Amino acid sequence: MDEDIMESEVRTVVDAASARILTPRAGECLVCYVFRQLGEFGCDGTHRFALTFRDRTAPRATALLERLGSMGACCCDCEMFRNAYWVSSHPWFTGAEWGEVIGTGFRSEEPIDLRNAFGIDEPPAKTIYLCCQLVRRGSTQPCGNWTRKSRW
Ligand SMILES: [Zn+2]
Ligand SMILES: [Zn+2]
Repeated sequence: MDEDIMESEVRTVVDAASARILTPRAGECLVCYVFRQLGEFGCDGTHRFALTFRDRTAPRATALLERLGSMGACCCDCEMFRNAYWVSSHPWFTGAEWGEVIGTGFRSEEPIDLRNAFGIDEPPAKTIYLCCQLVRRGSTQPCGNWTRKSRW
């Protein structure tokens, strides 16, 4: 068995899988996209996901990094969630299984009471998914899941 061929085949499969994950979903906003990628791959100290989003959906948003920097996320993707954005009071969570296809999952030891916590009319669930409320193509604004963090 030729190990080089094996390895290159494995790499092709892995590349195809991560390309699928890395592609912003139709209408998905910048913040949900970066949040989902950080959940999959973590932060590497750069703006790689914000830039991937921009290149694929909003190439004309040349001032994006400048704007993120002015909100406190000057240096890397995870800073967006430390300094710039926080989950709004009306995020779209679901405990339904289809959430896995379009959302970012959270697992909890105890069932999360969606009615009490978010006013969402669903039974408590141990795994809930944050689903993007969608923005128009070309926008780098967050959807209704996110609110600007006040720094003071
Ligand atoms: Zn980071
Ligand atoms: Zn969103």
